[in-house]
Amino acid sequence: MNSGHETTNNAPATTNNAPATTNSAVAATATVITNIASLVTNDPSLGDGTPLGLIQDAAVVIDGDRIAWVGEKSKAPATDNRLDAGGRAVIPGFVDSHSHLVFAGDRTAEFNARMSGQPYAAGGIRTTVAATRAATDAQLDANVARYLAEALRQGTTVMETKSGYGLTVEDEARALRIAARHTDEVTFLGAHIVSPDHADDPATYVALVTGDMLDACAPYARWVDVFCEKGAFDGDQARAILTAGRSRGLLPRVHANQLTHGPGVQLAVELDAASADHCTHLTDADVDALANSATVATLLPGAEFSTRAEWPDARRLIDAGATVALSTDCNPGSSFTSSVPFCIALAVRDMGMTPDEALWSATAGGAAALRRTDVGRLTPGARADLVLLDAPSHVHLAYRPGVPLVSQVWRSGRRTV
Ligand SMILES: [Zn+2]
Repeated sequence: MNSGHETTNNAPATTNNAPATTNSAVAATATVITNIASLVTNDPSLGDGTPLGLIQDAAVVIDGDRIAWVGEKSKAPATDNRLDAGGRAVIPGFVDSHSHLVFAGDRTAEFNARMSGQPYAAGGIRTTVAATRAATDAQLDANVARYLAEALRQGTTVMETKSGYGLTVEDEARALRIAARHTDEVTFLGAHIVSPDHADDPATYVALVTGDMLDACAPYARWVDVFCEKGAFDGDQARAILTAGRSRGLLPRVHANQLTHGPGVQLAVELDAASADHCTHLTDADVDALANSATVATLLPGAEFSTRAEWPDARRLIDAGATVALSTDCNPGSSFTSSVPFCIALAVRDMGMTPDEALWSATAGGAAALRRTDVGRLTPGARADLVLLDAPSHVHLAYRPGVPLVSQVWRSGRRTV
């Protein structure tokens, strides 16, 4: 909509003075979704006063790409367009703040060997690096589009994604250029592993990542990330990489404490990273640091599932007061799932989360991990990203694992699924 139209139009929707909860704030041309059995707003000041801000027998009004009104259906304003949710639950679209979608090939044989108790000698990430370097731009672009569409069908309306399978200046910049065509949440992860080209000389690779590679990649990315782990990058290397990225305007996030205890979480907090991701092996001091910071602990149970590893302890983090996000880590090696509902079910079953907490972490938590306030919530003014479930309550996401409950997905006010 162009601004000339808005300024010459006296319709109530263009005046911002009225509280959003009054009917006069809603344009007649808006759409109401009504007959919602339960609505998750993620605003504790709405509905039942819990963090989910649940409203029973609810309605939502969408005006353009925004939420214009939420409340009890009996109080919904009149609009031209009406959709009957038929007693379904409505939740915010999932915000998946951690994935690695720019890759080619897959690692079926590696997974099969791991799950069959057989030794497997191939090169892990290096296998994907080789396949990704060999792929054309069109092949990589099609892969990103395919996995994003797959995630959207499962309710994900915002998805971060990273480079990290190129590991040369040209291949990393290419990955980010392709990712940026599909999402605003793009992360430079040149420091995924030390490039095989520099295996014997990590210092030279860190210099490349913080120099020419960063120069080529910064224009396409919002975030800078590093895999801070034994066998990848130590604390000093990770600090150098994140600090260099920050000096180029990128915001830090960290792959931290996935496989072992290490300095990643403390570094993330020290640098005010938006998120420390994995957080599987934490000391009490790590938990404390997260709880007393703005750094979100992003848990990625698809990785533990796919490697038969120890689960991260969500209960411990939440009880300490940390903000927890839940994401897929979608990647071909350690977590080849794009399904947030699957991760919610794992988090509830195996990580000590309640169904309410898991849903919050997969929506508002993901938004916090991306420092976004316009998504992950269904409140007046938020982006109209929402999911209708073939269920009367969000609890069914964990209660009915593996069942395709996503019935409709709306993104920016338009029905996409
Ligand atoms: Zn990852």
